[in-house]
Amino acid sequence: MSGVKLEKVVKRYDNGVEVIHGIDLEIRKGEFVVFVGPSGCGKSTLMRMVAGLESITGGTISIEGQVVNDLPPRERDIAMVFQDYALYPHKTVFDNLGFGLKLRKFPKAEIEQRVRAAAAILKIEHLLERKPRALSGGQRQRVAMGRAIVRQARLFLFDEPLSNLDALLRSEMRTEIKKLHQRIGATTIYVTHDQVEAMTLAERIVVLSGGNIMQVGTPDEIYNQP
Ligand code: ADP
Ligand code: ADP
Repeated sequence: MSGVKLEKVVKRYDNGVEVIHGIDLEIRKGEFVVFVGPSGCGKSTLMRMVAGLESITGGTISIEGQVVNDLPPRERDIAMVFQDYALYPHKTVFDNLGFGLKLRKFPKAEIEQRVRAAAAILKIEHLLERKPRALSGGQRQRVAMGRAIVRQARLFLFDEPLSNLDALLRSEMRTEIKKLHQRIGATTIYVTHDQVEAMTLAERIVVLSGGNIMQVGTPDEIYNQP
């Protein structure tokens, strides 16, 4: 079964401009795919359509065989991490991590168990009682990832999750994300400008330009071509 399937996907914004021109792409279940391409090429738009945050003008998007074109974001079983994904400033890390589950009416014990498991994976167990303002940038980013992990969603979407971090943290978080994927194995779409991130994380890289797919291949095929 495919993790995500895009068939002839088109996006035209309300201003009438078409920015995605009929994209076909199949992502295997469990595969880690990285979207790269110049600013404005449509990476975020494509990802937001998969997430349900933008409507789809034409074509079909399926997740694990289910057509999601008309499904609201909450019903897509997707976890997202954005660069600007704000934490709730007045909630503790524990409550930030558990909030999505609480909204979905998970039992307290299950929330507690999942939050602690995610915190262990991300090594933020000692921060659970803190508020976001008392965390470093890297710690906040871990919490944002933790919010995605606790959901145990079938699809992870990362939109430039590391671009606000300094080089050292970026490198650490790359390693964490890679380990996480090896451990959880969820289908992942990851958008980045950073070639090192793409090389390190991707099983396949999709190169976009002007709303079309230019190239699809392994990091080696994309970056080490003669
Ligand atoms: P990327 O993520 O690759 O930088 P985007 O998906 O953000 O690209 O943008 C693709 C194109 O769509 C750009 O030309 C951008 O200006 C345009 N665009 C993005 N959002 C909107 C919007 N809400 N309304 C109109 N045009 C938009
Ligand atoms: P959760 O912690 O479970 O992701 P949130 O309250 O953070 O719950 O988000 C609820 C839903 O809102 C998400 O499942 C997602 O569909 C949508 N969402 C998440 N991030 C954004 C965003 N940056 N912009 C718009 N909608 C979002």
